[in-house]
Amino acid sequence: MNAPLNGTKTSRPSEAAGNKPQEATVLDRYEPVIGLEVHCQLKTRTKLFCGCSTAFGGLPNHNTCQICLGHPGVLPVLNSEAVNFAIRFALAIGADIHETSVFARKQYFYPDLPKGYQITQFDLPYCTGGTMTLASGKTVRLMRAHLEEDAGKNVHGDESSYVDLNRAGVPLVEIVSQPDIRTPEDAADYLKRLRSLVRSLDICDGNLEEGSFRCDANISIRPKGQEQLGTRCEIKNLNSFRNIERAIKYEILRQADVLDHGQKVIQQTMLFDAASGKTQAMRSKEESHDYRYFPEPDLLPLRIDAARIERQRQVLPELPEAMSKRFQEKHGLSAYDAAVLTSDKDLANFYEAVVARVAGAVTEKIVANWVTSEYLREVNNRSWDLTSPPITSDHLGELIALIGKGVISGRIAKTLFEEMAEKGPGKGAMAMVEEQGLLQVSDSSEIRGVIAKVLDSNPGQLAEYLGGRDKLFGFFVGQTMKVSGGKMNPQLVNDVLKELLDARRQG
Ligand SMILES: [Zn+2]
Repeated sequence: MNAPLNGTKTSRPSEAAGNKPQEATVLDRYEPVIGLEVHCQLKTRTKLFCGCSTAFGGLPNHNTCQICLGHPGVLPVLNSEAVNFAIRFALAIGADIHETSVFARKQYFYPDLPKGYQITQFDLPYCTGGTMTLASGKTVRLMRAHLEEDAGKNVHGDESSYVDLNRAGVPLVEIVSQPDIRTPEDAADYLKRLRSLVRSLDICDGNLEEGSFRCDANISIRPKGQEQLGTRCEIKNLNSFRNIERAIKYEILRQADVLDHGQKVIQQTMLFDAASGKTQAMRSKEESHDYRYFPEPDLLPLRIDAARIERQRQVLPELPEAMSKRFQEKHGLSAYDAAVLTSDKDLANFYEAVVARVAGAVTEKIVANWVTSEYLREVNNRSWDLTSPPITSDHLGELIALIGKGVISGRIAKTLFEEMAEKGPGKGAMAMVEEQGLLQVSDSSEIRGVIAKVLDSNPGQLAEYLGGRDKLFGFFVGQTMKVSGGKMNPQLVNDVLKELLDARRQG
């Protein structure tokens, strides 16, 4: 539900007085308590209670019918696939799935809600409990998850406002955590893991920009050591992981500042303004009794039997945590590399496809280094879509395999990769190597000749080395690679150089 800004400024006494709040000491004195509510749009083809398309980006009000427009006399029909998706989520987090749950009407007025109420689940949600484990080792308990329909969207122009009801009735699972989170970093990590989970379950595309994965954060602070919870504020509709962290940090400092000045935090709903980095009051916080919930009379209670749960358990894919463990065992990766690669199922699939393509020419660890550093950097810089990246696992695999086969050096491979990213992969790595004459020199007599020249043209360093300064060995390696434009096989350069220098020391 969205409400317009009423323009009230939140009080932050230090700012009014022109002082900076004591940011450094706030976390020494106060403990933040954070709970998160996530609205996750289910990837069904049709809406929760009618046959309209859920596709994003259609012409306004084209994906609508009498049911999602709230015409009188029509009846909702529950989308069975949405229930299956919701069950898969509950199974993945280890929640209790209830045999009977009940849809309820939540009444409020807003232009994007044509019925005047939202169909959701209230006191009897389809699942409760479950946990998520964070990178910090902390476990966050989940309170509940329930099924509900989304509202439409208000679009505000310069002179007029418009209502687009394409989104009205789209299925959501709302996932509510216990207030177990204590830092903004853990909050962001929880959301990243939750997004990765629903994406690997293939029940939600996790697109924050299009609003299919939205987060509200409940934040309060209390003096350290105090049992009783402070008054909480809710920040609505945070749409990027970075903004979530920023908004929570700002809100913690704002509340500390209010308490430090002997004032009280007022329970209210806030919006985060990404441009100024500040939260702003939107409305006073409503209580659940304000909505006058009652059981939806047009829908029977939802029954989920054991056989249905079992059928969904059978189709669960490998979940991120299990996949991370498998990557460590099968590919010999560190916990860190495995976590990065399995944070996104498309990235994980990409990695395994590259491993298959190099077919043992280099180690799986080297492939992981390439994917997590060179490749991921270009993915982020160039906003590549991992489902259809311009440089495929075939392209990258061919390139990396050339290092392992001694065809090119790692340095040349990095240069070629940057060129591929810039201009597209073209005919592939080997063709580029041939066209540009980059074949690695592995002919030891040629290497011998270059090294002899390098030693002759640096007599000062040579004398020092022969006098015992072993550190200069690296200098000669560097010079040789430089003269050859990085094309010489580094291992051979090392071997030949050692041989020649040893001979001179003895001779
Ligand atoms: Zn409809």
